[in-house]
Amino acid sequence: MPTTDPTHDPARRSFLDSANDPRADFPIQNLPLGVFVRHGGGAGEQKPRIGIAIGDRIVDVPRCIELKLLDGIKPEAACALCAETLNPFMALGRTHWKQVRRQVAALLDESSRLRDDLGTQMAVLVPMIEAEMLLPATIGDYSDFYASIHHATNVGSMFRPDNPLLPNYKHLPVGYHGRASSIVASGTDVRRPMGQTVTSDAGPPTFGACKLLDYEMEMGFFVGPGNELGTRIAMRDAAAHVFGMVIVNDWSARDIQKWEYQPLGPFNAKNFATTISPWVVTLEALAPYRMSGPPRGEGDPQLLDYLKPEEEFALNITVEVKIASAIMREKKMQPMLVSRGNLRDMYWTIMQMLVHHTSTGCNMRPGDLLATGTISGTGEDSRGCLLERTWRGSKPLTLPDGTERKFLQDGDEVIMNAWCETDGFRRIGFGECRGTILPASD
Ligand code: CA
Repeated sequence: MPTTDPTHDPARRSFLDSANDPRADFPIQNLPLGVFVRHGGGAGEQKPRIGIAIGDRIVDVPRCIELKLLDGIKPEAACALCAETLNPFMALGRTHWKQVRRQVAALLDESSRLRDDLGTQMAVLVPMIEAEMLLPATIGDYSDFYASIHHATNVGSMFRPDNPLLPNYKHLPVGYHGRASSIVASGTDVRRPMGQTVTSDAGPPTFGACKLLDYEMEMGFFVGPGNELGTRIAMRDAAAHVFGMVIVNDWSARDIQKWEYQPLGPFNAKNFATTISPWVVTLEALAPYRMSGPPRGEGDPQLLDYLKPEEEFALNITVEVKIASAIMREKKMQPMLVSRGNLRDMYWTIMQMLVHHTSTGCNMRPGDLLATGTISGTGEDSRGCLLERTWRGSKPLTLPDGTERKFLQDGDEVIMNAWCETDGFRRIGFGECRGTILPASD
Protein backbone atom coordinates (compact mmCIF):
# COMPACT_ATOMS: atom_id res chain seq x y z
CA MET A 1 0.00 0.00 0.00
CA PRO A 2 1.35 3.43 -0.88
CA THR A 3 2.37 5.76 1.93
CA THR A 4 1.65 9.46 2.08
CA ASP A 5 3.96 12.02 0.46
CA PRO A 6 3.85 15.74 -0.48
CA THR A 7 0.99 15.07 -2.95
CA HIS A 8 -1.23 14.39 0.10
CA ASP A 9 -0.18 17.54 2.02
CA PRO A 10 -3.49 19.03 3.24
CA ALA A 11 -2.04 22.55 3.01
CA ARG A 12 -1.38 22.19 -0.68
CA ARG A 13 -3.61 24.38 -2.87
CA SER A 14 -4.31 24.71 -6.56
CA PHE A 15 -4.46 27.97 -8.53
CA LEU A 16 -8.02 26.86 -9.41
CA ASP A 17 -10.42 28.15 -6.74
CA SER A 18 -12.98 25.40 -7.35
CA ALA A 19 -10.40 22.82 -6.23
CA ASN A 20 -9.81 24.58 -2.90
CA ASP A 21 -13.40 24.44 -1.66
CA PRO A 22 -13.24 22.19 1.44
CA ARG A 23 -16.30 20.26 0.19
CA ALA A 24 -14.84 19.66 -3.28
CA ASP A 25 -14.57 16.04 -4.39
CA PHE A 26 -11.57 16.79 -6.55
CA PRO A 27 -8.98 18.89 -4.68
CA ILE A 28 -5.32 18.79 -5.73
CA GLN A 29 -4.79 15.89 -3.28
CA ASN A 30 -7.14 13.62 -5.28
CA LEU A 31 -6.35 13.76 -9.04
CA PRO A 32 -8.53 10.86 -10.25
CA LEU A 33 -8.27 9.71 -13.86
CA GLY A 34 -11.06 9.21 -16.36
CA VAL A 35 -11.91 9.29 -20.06
CA PHE A 36 -13.96 12.10 -21.59
CA VAL A 37 -15.19 13.53 -24.85
CA ARG A 38 -15.76 17.22 -25.29
CA HIS A 39 -19.19 18.36 -26.46
CA GLY A 40 -19.13 20.23 -29.74
CA GLY A 41 -15.37 20.16 -30.02
CA GLY A 42 -13.44 20.06 -33.29
CA ALA A 43 -12.83 16.78 -35.07
CA GLY A 44 -9.78 15.94 -32.91
CA GLU A 45 -11.76 16.61 -29.73
CA GLN A 46 -14.52 14.10 -30.52
CA LYS A 47 -12.16 11.26 -29.74
CA PRO A 48 -12.11 9.90 -26.17
CA ARG A 49 -9.26 11.46 -24.20
CA ILE A 50 -7.74 10.75 -20.81
CA GLY A 51 -8.46 13.44 -18.26
CA ILE A 52 -7.72 14.19 -14.62
CA ALA A 53 -10.37 15.87 -12.45
CA ILE A 54 -9.46 19.05 -10.58
CA GLY A 55 -12.20 21.18 -8.98
CA ASP A 56 -14.83 21.70 -11.69
CA ARG A 57 -12.38 21.16 -14.56
CA ILE A 58 -10.81 18.30 -16.43
CA VAL A 59 -7.11 18.37 -17.23
CA ASP A 60 -6.80 17.33 -20.87
CA VAL A 61 -3.80 15.05 -20.38
CA PRO A 62 -2.83 14.41 -24.03
CA ARG A 63 -2.99 18.15 -24.67
CA CYS A 64 -0.64 18.74 -21.70
CA ILE A 65 1.76 16.18 -23.17
CA GLU A 66 1.53 17.82 -26.59
CA LEU A 67 2.33 21.20 -25.02
CA LYS A 68 5.24 19.66 -23.08
CA LEU A 69 3.74 20.55 -19.70
CA LEU A 70 4.44 17.09 -18.24
CA ASP A 71 8.03 16.64 -19.31
CA GLY A 72 9.04 14.80 -16.16
CA ILE A 73 7.14 11.65 -17.07
CA LYS A 74 8.66 8.75 -19.00
CA PRO A 75 7.94 8.33 -22.73
CA GLU A 76 6.01 5.09 -22.14
CA ALA A 77 3.70 6.86 -19.67
CA ALA A 78 3.22 9.76 -22.10
CA CYS A 79 2.33 7.27 -24.82
CA ALA A 80 -0.10 5.36 -22.56
CA LEU A 81 -1.83 8.59 -21.53
CA CYS A 82 -2.57 9.44 -25.15
CA ALA A 83 -4.67 6.27 -25.55
CA GLU A 84 -8.49 6.29 -25.63
CA THR A 85 -8.79 4.15 -22.48
CA LEU A 86 -6.80 3.87 -19.27
CA ASN A 87 -5.84 0.20 -19.86
CA PRO A 88 -2.32 0.91 -21.17
CA PHE A 89 -1.60 3.26 -18.26
CA MET A 90 -3.04 0.78 -15.74
CA ALA A 91 -0.64 -1.82 -17.16
CA LEU A 92 2.45 0.31 -16.42
CA GLY A 93 2.49 -0.03 -12.66
CA ARG A 94 3.03 2.05 -9.59
CA THR A 95 6.33 3.79 -10.42
CA HIS A 96 4.69 5.45 -13.42
CA TRP A 97 1.41 6.13 -11.60
CA LYS A 98 3.31 7.95 -8.83
CA GLN A 99 5.43 9.94 -11.22
CA VAL A 100 2.40 11.17 -13.18
CA ARG A 101 0.61 12.08 -9.94
CA ARG A 102 3.59 14.16 -8.79
CA GLN A 103 3.90 15.92 -12.13
CA VAL A 104 0.20 16.74 -12.44
CA ALA A 105 0.11 18.01 -8.84
CA ALA A 106 3.03 20.32 -9.62
CA LEU A 107 1.30 21.56 -12.79
CA LEU A 108 -1.91 22.41 -10.88
CA ASP A 109 -0.21 23.77 -7.74
CA GLU A 110 -0.73 27.44 -6.87
CA SER A 111 2.99 27.97 -7.51
CA SER A 112 2.71 26.52 -11.05
CA ARG A 113 3.77 28.58 -14.05
CA LEU A 114 0.31 27.76 -15.43
CA ARG A 115 -1.30 30.04 -12.84
CA ASP A 116 -0.80 33.25 -14.80
CA ASP A 117 -0.93 31.70 -18.25
CA LEU A 118 -4.63 31.93 -19.08
CA GLY A 119 -4.07 30.98 -22.71
CA THR A 120 -2.53 27.63 -21.79
CA GLN A 121 -5.15 27.11 -19.07
CA MET A 122 -7.85 27.52 -21.73
CA ALA A 123 -6.09 24.93 -23.86
CA VAL A 124 -5.66 22.24 -21.20
CA LEU A 125 -8.50 22.74 -18.67
CA VAL A 126 -11.94 21.67 -19.90
CA PRO A 127 -15.01 22.71 -17.85
CA MET A 128 -16.70 19.50 -16.66
CA ILE A 129 -20.06 20.78 -17.91
CA GLU A 130 -18.66 20.80 -21.46
CA ALA A 131 -17.63 17.14 -21.36
CA GLU A 132 -19.22 13.73 -21.32
CA MET A 133 -17.56 11.04 -19.21
CA LEU A 134 -17.12 7.56 -20.69
CA LEU A 135 -16.09 4.27 -19.12
CA PRO A 136 -12.49 4.73 -17.91
CA ALA A 137 -11.26 1.41 -19.30
CA THR A 138 -12.17 -1.43 -21.58
CA ILE A 139 -13.28 -3.90 -18.93
CA GLY A 140 -12.34 -7.40 -20.02
CA ASP A 141 -13.66 -9.18 -16.96
CA TYR A 142 -15.80 -8.19 -14.01
CA SER A 143 -16.23 -10.13 -10.76
CA ASP A 144 -18.34 -9.21 -7.78
CA PHE A 145 -17.81 -10.26 -4.16
CA TYR A 146 -20.04 -10.47 -1.09
CA ALA A 147 -17.64 -9.00 1.46
CA SER A 148 -20.00 -7.31 3.93
CA ILE A 149 -20.81 -9.70 6.73
CA HIS A 150 -23.74 -7.47 7.69
CA HIS A 151 -25.19 -7.67 4.17
CA ALA A 152 -24.59 -11.44 4.01
CA THR A 153 -26.18 -11.93 7.43
CA ASN A 154 -29.20 -9.74 6.65
CA VAL A 155 -29.89 -11.33 3.27
CA GLY A 156 -29.12 -14.82 4.60
CA SER A 157 -31.51 -14.38 7.51
CA MET A 158 -34.39 -13.52 5.15
CA PHE A 159 -33.97 -16.83 3.36
CA ARG A 160 -32.45 -19.01 6.15
CA PRO A 161 -33.45 -17.48 9.50
CA ASP A 162 -31.68 -20.20 11.52
CA ASN A 163 -28.51 -20.28 9.49
CA PRO A 164 -27.87 -16.95 7.79
CA LEU A 165 -24.13 -17.34 7.10
CA LEU A 166 -23.05 -20.33 5.07
CA PRO A 167 -20.05 -22.36 6.38
CA ASN A 168 -17.58 -20.90 3.85
CA TYR A 169 -18.25 -17.24 4.66
CA LYS A 170 -15.44 -16.60 7.16
CA HIS A 171 -12.92 -18.71 5.25
CA LEU A 172 -12.97 -17.09 1.82
CA PRO A 173 -14.31 -13.97 0.13
CA VAL A 174 -17.35 -15.34 -1.71
CA GLY A 175 -17.81 -13.97 -5.23
CA TYR A 176 -19.26 -14.63 -8.67
CA HIS A 177 -18.19 -13.79 -12.20
CA GLY A 178 -20.22 -10.83 -13.43
CA ARG A 179 -20.89 -9.51 -16.88
CA ALA A 180 -18.48 -6.90 -18.31
CA SER A 181 -20.41 -6.04 -21.49
CA SER A 182 -23.27 -4.34 -19.63
CA ILE A 183 -21.16 -2.08 -17.41
CA VAL A 184 -22.11 1.52 -18.15
CA ALA A 185 -20.86 4.92 -17.02
CA SER A 186 -22.79 7.07 -14.56
CA GLY A 187 -25.68 8.91 -16.20
CA THR A 188 -26.66 6.07 -18.53
CA ASP A 189 -30.35 5.12 -18.22
CA VAL A 190 -31.10 1.55 -17.14
CA ARG A 191 -33.95 -0.39 -18.69
CA ARG A 192 -36.06 -2.52 -16.34
CA PRO A 193 -35.28 -6.11 -17.29
CA MET A 194 -37.70 -8.81 -18.39
CA GLY A 195 -37.35 -12.26 -16.91
CA GLN A 196 -38.77 -15.42 -15.39
CA THR A 197 -40.38 -15.02 -12.00
CA VAL A 198 -42.54 -17.18 -9.76
CA THR A 199 -45.21 -16.58 -7.16
CA SER A 200 -44.55 -19.89 -5.43
CA ASP A 201 -41.10 -21.36 -4.74
CA ALA A 202 -41.76 -24.41 -6.91
CA GLY A 203 -43.05 -22.47 -9.90
CA PRO A 204 -44.37 -22.48 -12.52
CA PRO A 205 -42.76 -19.27 -13.75
CA THR A 206 -44.15 -16.52 -15.96
CA PHE A 207 -42.13 -14.21 -18.22
CA GLY A 208 -42.54 -10.48 -17.74
CA ALA A 209 -41.10 -7.22 -16.44
CA CYS A 210 -39.09 -7.43 -13.21
CA LYS A 211 -41.21 -6.19 -10.30
CA LEU A 212 -38.57 -6.17 -7.56
CA LEU A 213 -35.82 -4.01 -9.05
CA ASP A 214 -33.03 -3.01 -6.67
CA TYR A 215 -29.65 -1.28 -6.55
CA GLU A 216 -26.56 -2.43 -4.63
CA MET A 217 -24.17 0.21 -3.25
CA GLU A 218 -20.64 -1.11 -3.78
CA MET A 219 -17.11 0.05 -4.43
CA GLY A 220 -15.01 -1.50 -7.18
CA PHE A 221 -11.33 -1.52 -8.05
CA PHE A 222 -9.46 -1.64 -11.32
CA VAL A 223 -6.59 -4.08 -11.70
CA GLY A 224 -3.21 -2.68 -12.74
CA PRO A 225 -0.47 -4.88 -14.26
CA GLY A 226 -2.11 -8.20 -13.34
CA ASN A 227 -0.68 -11.72 -13.50
CA GLU A 228 0.08 -14.39 -16.06
CA LEU A 229 -2.26 -17.37 -16.37
CA GLY A 230 -1.11 -20.10 -14.00
CA THR A 231 0.54 -17.72 -11.52
CA ARG A 232 -0.88 -16.23 -8.33
CA ILE A 233 -0.77 -12.75 -6.83
CA ALA A 234 0.63 -13.01 -3.30
CA MET A 235 -0.68 -10.85 -0.49
CA ARG A 236 2.59 -8.89 -0.25
CA ASP A 237 2.30 -7.91 -3.93
CA ALA A 238 -1.44 -7.28 -4.04
CA ALA A 239 -1.37 -3.50 -3.57
CA ALA A 240 0.94 -3.11 -6.58
CA HIS A 241 -1.84 -4.58 -8.74
CA VAL A 242 -4.61 -2.23 -7.60
CA PHE A 243 -4.80 0.88 -9.77
CA GLY A 244 -7.74 2.67 -8.18
CA MET A 245 -11.38 2.62 -7.13
CA VAL A 246 -14.81 3.67 -8.38
CA ILE A 247 -18.38 3.55 -7.07
CA VAL A 248 -20.34 0.55 -8.38
CA ASN A 249 -24.11 0.12 -8.55
CA ASP A 250 -24.80 -3.58 -9.11
CA TRP A 251 -28.44 -3.30 -10.27
CA SER A 252 -30.31 -6.43 -9.19
CA ALA A 253 -33.64 -8.00 -10.19
CA ARG A 254 -34.65 -9.67 -6.92
CA ASP A 255 -37.64 -11.63 -8.27
CA ILE A 256 -35.59 -13.02 -11.17
CA GLN A 257 -32.75 -13.79 -8.73
CA LYS A 258 -35.00 -15.70 -6.35
CA TRP A 259 -36.08 -18.21 -9.00
CA GLU A 260 -32.80 -18.66 -10.87
CA TYR A 261 -30.03 -18.43 -8.26
CA GLN A 262 -29.80 -22.03 -7.13
CA PRO A 263 -27.51 -23.86 -7.62
CA LEU A 264 -25.09 -21.64 -9.59
CA GLY A 265 -25.78 -18.14 -8.24
CA PRO A 266 -27.21 -15.05 -9.94
CA PHE A 267 -27.30 -14.93 -13.74
CA ASN A 268 -29.93 -12.80 -15.49
CA ALA A 269 -30.76 -11.05 -12.21
CA LYS A 270 -27.44 -9.20 -12.43
CA ASN A 271 -26.43 -9.14 -16.08
CA PHE A 272 -28.61 -6.35 -17.52
CA ALA A 273 -26.63 -3.37 -16.17
CA THR A 274 -23.92 -2.32 -13.72
CA THR A 275 -23.21 1.39 -13.36
CA ILE A 276 -19.84 2.82 -12.30
CA SER A 277 -18.66 6.33 -11.46
CA PRO A 278 -16.34 7.61 -14.19
CA TRP A 279 -13.42 8.94 -12.12
CA VAL A 280 -10.92 6.37 -10.88
CA VAL A 281 -9.54 7.50 -7.51
CA THR A 282 -6.08 5.97 -7.37
CA LEU A 283 -4.77 3.82 -4.55
CA GLU A 284 -2.07 6.51 -4.19
CA ALA A 285 -4.74 9.13 -3.45
CA LEU A 286 -6.42 6.79 -0.93
CA ALA A 287 -3.26 6.27 1.17
CA PRO A 288 -4.27 8.65 4.01
CA TYR A 289 -7.62 6.90 4.52
CA ARG A 290 -6.27 3.47 5.17
CA MET A 291 -6.93 2.15 8.66
CA SER A 292 -6.52 -0.97 10.75
CA GLY A 293 -8.98 -3.78 10.25
CA PRO A 294 -11.10 -5.41 9.23
CA PRO A 295 -11.89 -6.85 12.64
CA ARG A 296 -12.24 -10.61 12.98
CA GLY A 297 -14.24 -11.78 15.98
CA GLU A 298 -12.84 -13.86 18.85
CA GLY A 299 -14.50 -17.03 17.68
CA ASP A 300 -13.72 -16.52 13.99
CA PRO A 301 -11.65 -19.21 12.29
CA GLN A 302 -7.97 -18.65 11.57
CA LEU A 303 -7.33 -17.46 8.04
CA LEU A 304 -5.43 -19.76 5.74
CA ASP A 305 -1.93 -18.42 5.17
CA TYR A 306 -2.46 -17.11 1.63
CA LEU A 307 -5.28 -14.82 2.86
CA LYS A 308 -3.44 -13.47 5.92
CA PRO A 309 -2.85 -9.75 5.53
CA GLU A 310 0.80 -8.64 5.40
CA GLU A 311 -0.38 -5.48 7.15
CA GLU A 312 -3.74 -4.32 8.38
CA PHE A 313 -5.74 -2.87 5.56
CA ALA A 314 -9.20 -1.35 5.65
CA LEU A 315 -10.35 1.77 3.84
CA ASN A 316 -12.34 4.56 5.42
CA ILE A 317 -14.69 5.41 2.55
CA THR A 318 -18.16 6.74 3.35
CA VAL A 319 -20.80 5.68 0.86
CA GLU A 320 -24.23 7.20 0.43
CA VAL A 321 -27.36 6.38 -1.59
CA LYS A 322 -30.10 8.85 -2.56
CA ILE A 323 -33.28 8.37 -4.57
CA ALA A 324 -35.22 10.93 -6.62
CA SER A 325 -38.49 9.89 -8.23
CA ALA A 326 -39.62 11.40 -11.54
CA ILE A 327 -42.17 13.52 -9.62
CA MET A 328 -39.50 14.73 -7.20
CA ARG A 329 -37.28 15.81 -10.09
CA GLU A 330 -40.19 17.53 -11.81
CA LYS A 331 -41.04 19.42 -8.61
CA LYS A 332 -37.35 20.22 -8.07
CA MET A 333 -37.28 18.38 -4.73
CA GLN A 334 -33.92 17.27 -3.33
CA PRO A 335 -33.14 13.56 -3.67
CA MET A 336 -33.87 11.64 -0.46
CA LEU A 337 -30.97 10.14 1.50
CA VAL A 338 -31.70 6.42 1.85
CA SER A 339 -28.54 5.03 3.45
CA ARG A 340 -25.00 5.86 4.52
CA GLY A 341 -22.38 3.19 5.15
CA ASN A 342 -18.61 2.76 5.19
CA LEU A 343 -16.26 0.42 3.36
CA ARG A 344 -14.26 -0.10 6.56
CA ASP A 345 -17.10 -2.31 7.86
CA MET A 346 -16.39 -5.03 5.29
CA TYR A 347 -15.27 -8.45 6.49
CA TRP A 348 -12.83 -8.92 3.60
CA THR A 349 -10.40 -6.40 2.11
CA ILE A 350 -9.94 -5.66 -1.57
CA MET A 351 -6.45 -7.19 -1.30
CA GLN A 352 -7.90 -10.47 -0.02
CA MET A 353 -10.41 -10.43 -2.89
CA LEU A 354 -7.64 -10.02 -5.46
CA VAL A 355 -5.40 -12.68 -3.89
CA HIS A 356 -8.24 -15.16 -3.55
CA HIS A 357 -9.43 -14.55 -7.13
CA THR A 358 -5.97 -15.40 -8.50
CA SER A 359 -5.26 -18.23 -6.02
CA THR A 360 -6.09 -20.83 -8.67
CA GLY A 361 -3.82 -19.21 -11.26
CA CYS A 362 -6.66 -17.21 -12.77
CA ASN A 363 -5.09 -14.32 -14.66
CA MET A 364 -6.04 -10.69 -14.12
CA ARG A 365 -5.61 -8.22 -16.91
CA PRO A 366 -5.17 -4.44 -16.76
CA GLY A 367 -8.62 -2.85 -16.57
CA ASP A 368 -10.39 -5.85 -15.03
CA LEU A 369 -12.95 -4.69 -12.47
CA LEU A 370 -13.55 -6.35 -9.10
CA ALA A 371 -16.38 -5.10 -6.87
CA THR A 372 -16.83 -5.54 -3.14
CA GLY A 373 -20.49 -6.52 -2.92
CA THR A 374 -23.15 -4.49 -1.15
CA ILE A 375 -21.71 -2.31 1.60
CA SER A 376 -23.91 -2.55 4.69
CA GLY A 377 -23.19 -1.70 8.31
CA THR A 378 -24.95 -2.67 11.52
CA GLY A 379 -27.62 0.06 11.52
CA GLU A 380 -30.79 0.06 9.43
CA ASP A 381 -29.80 3.31 7.77
CA SER A 382 -26.46 1.84 6.66
CA ARG A 383 -27.99 -0.93 4.57
CA GLY A 384 -26.80 -0.64 1.00
CA CYS A 385 -29.72 -2.07 -1.01
CA LEU A 386 -33.52 -1.84 -0.86
CA LEU A 387 -33.90 -5.57 -0.18
CA GLU A 388 -32.27 -4.94 3.21
CA ARG A 389 -33.31 -1.29 3.68
CA THR A 390 -37.04 -2.12 3.34
CA TRP A 391 -36.57 -5.67 4.64
CA ARG A 392 -37.96 -7.33 1.48
CA GLY A 393 -40.57 -4.60 1.18
CA SER A 394 -42.04 -5.11 4.67
CA LYS A 395 -40.83 -1.65 5.80
CA PRO A 396 -41.39 0.64 2.81
CA LEU A 397 -39.69 4.03 2.59
CA THR A 398 -41.82 7.14 2.10
CA LEU A 399 -40.34 9.56 -0.42
CA PRO A 400 -40.82 13.34 -0.12
CA ASP A 401 -43.38 13.20 -2.96
CA GLY A 402 -45.62 11.10 -0.66
CA THR A 403 -45.18 7.80 -2.54
CA GLU A 404 -43.88 4.58 -1.00
CA ARG A 405 -40.93 2.51 -2.13
CA LYS A 406 -40.36 -1.16 -1.50
CA PHE A 407 -38.32 -1.51 -4.68
CA LEU A 408 -37.50 0.84 -7.57
CA GLN A 409 -40.23 2.28 -9.80
CA ASP A 410 -39.86 3.43 -13.40
CA GLY A 411 -38.48 6.97 -13.48
CA ASP A 412 -36.62 6.61 -10.17
CA GLU A 413 -33.08 7.94 -10.20
CA VAL A 414 -30.53 6.35 -7.86
CA ILE A 415 -27.61 8.59 -6.95
CA MET A 416 -24.56 7.19 -5.15
CA ASN A 417 -21.71 9.23 -3.68
CA ALA A 418 -18.58 8.25 -1.83
CA TRP A 419 -15.88 10.22 -0.11
CA CYS A 420 -12.95 9.97 2.34
CA GLU A 421 -12.39 12.14 5.37
CA THR A 422 -9.87 11.77 8.13
CA ASP A 423 -8.07 14.02 10.61
CA GLY A 424 -5.04 15.77 9.24
CA PHE A 425 -5.89 15.29 5.54
CA ARG A 426 -8.08 16.85 2.89
CA ARG A 427 -11.48 15.40 2.06
CA ILE A 428 -11.48 13.69 -1.31
CA GLY A 429 -14.51 12.33 -3.19
CA PHE A 430 -15.40 9.92 -5.95
CA GLY A 431 -18.01 12.10 -7.67
CA GLU A 432 -21.31 10.48 -8.55
CA CYS A 433 -22.68 7.21 -9.81
CA ARG A 434 -26.23 7.79 -11.04
CA GLY A 435 -28.78 6.02 -13.18
CA THR A 436 -32.51 6.36 -13.96
CA ILE A 437 -34.87 3.43 -14.48
CA LEU A 438 -36.65 3.25 -17.84
CA PRO A 439 -39.82 1.13 -18.27
CA ALA A 440 -39.33 -2.41 -19.54
CA SER A 441 -39.75 -2.90 -23.27
CA ASP A 442 -41.49 -6.14 -24.19
CA1 CA B 1 -23.50 -7.30 -5.82
